[in-house]
Amino acid sequence: MHKTVFGAYTLHAIQTGFFKLDGGAMFGVVPKPLWSRHIPSDEQNRIPMCSRSLLIESHDTGRCYLIDAGLGHKFNQKFEEIYQVDYSDGSLLKSLASAGFTPDQITDVIFTHLHFDHCGGASIWKDEKTSELIFPEANIWVTRAHWNNAIHPNPRESASFLKENLDPIARHPRLILTEGAHVFENDFYTMIVNGHTTGMQLPVLEDGDRKLVFAADLLPTHAHTPIPWVMGYDMFPLTSMEERMRLFPQAVKEGWYFFLEHDADHEIIQLGHDGRNYHAATKLTLGEL
Ligand SMILES: [Zn+2]
Repeated sequence: MHKTVFGAYTLHAIQTGFFKLDGGAMFGVVPKPLWSRHIPSDEQNRIPMCSRSLLIESHDTGRCYLIDAGLGHKFNQKFEEIYQVDYSDGSLLKSLASAGFTPDQITDVIFTHLHFDHCGGASIWKDEKTSELIFPEANIWVTRAHWNNAIHPNPRESASFLKENLDPIARHPRLILTEGAHVFENDFYTMIVNGHTTGMQLPVLEDGDRKLVFAADLLPTHAHTPIPWVMGYDMFPLTSMEERMRLFPQAVKEGWYFFLEHDADHEIIQLGHDGRNYHAATKLTLGEL
């Protein structure tokens, strides 16, 4: 089951599609003999990935929040081949439909950040040059720090911010830029994490003393648990490590559930620490929460 009730919210895991990325880039300075024990690579050194969104239905307000939107379909064939994009096990719209939702029921889209694998699915081509949002009525939430970074990117990060993804968001009348951590409702708020990019926001839900954290690119897969195992894609890897050193001890102590956006096989993990490194102590699906 990819659905559960968590406090005052019903949560649905929304599979938006699978793709592959270079394993070396995904594990930064970690040697392949170490990372490939956890996630084996294909003949081109790529590892399987997915973009798993989270749909949050509020029992109190009736609002429906979608966290991130996956890669989408605005690519050419060359891109789909390089990244081995595969929608056979679901796409954003198909998975929303299987969960019982249409795009116009989504009241809020919260982007952790605007790299193409997180926001591409929110828009489609209208004609050859113009793209438009598939959630025309929804509030779109991005941190101001990240938005400023996305519209004035550094040269290394600019390839991750695609014009066809950002333009319809920039034109959207209900784009809301938050100044930092934001409280959406009771027991539902964001925390800000830097390092992967500037101003990434991670949604957090609480149910009594249980906490579910949408991990985004702080912890992309179950294999990225040791502090130095940060991605080659991170803009500021030392900052990523500092953020992990700040958050992981608390995550172990309080038993945080990390919802994994990019892990092809595991929806949720809890961290453990064996005296040397952090590891995925528990792996479960949303339905097992
Ligand atoms: Zn990213």
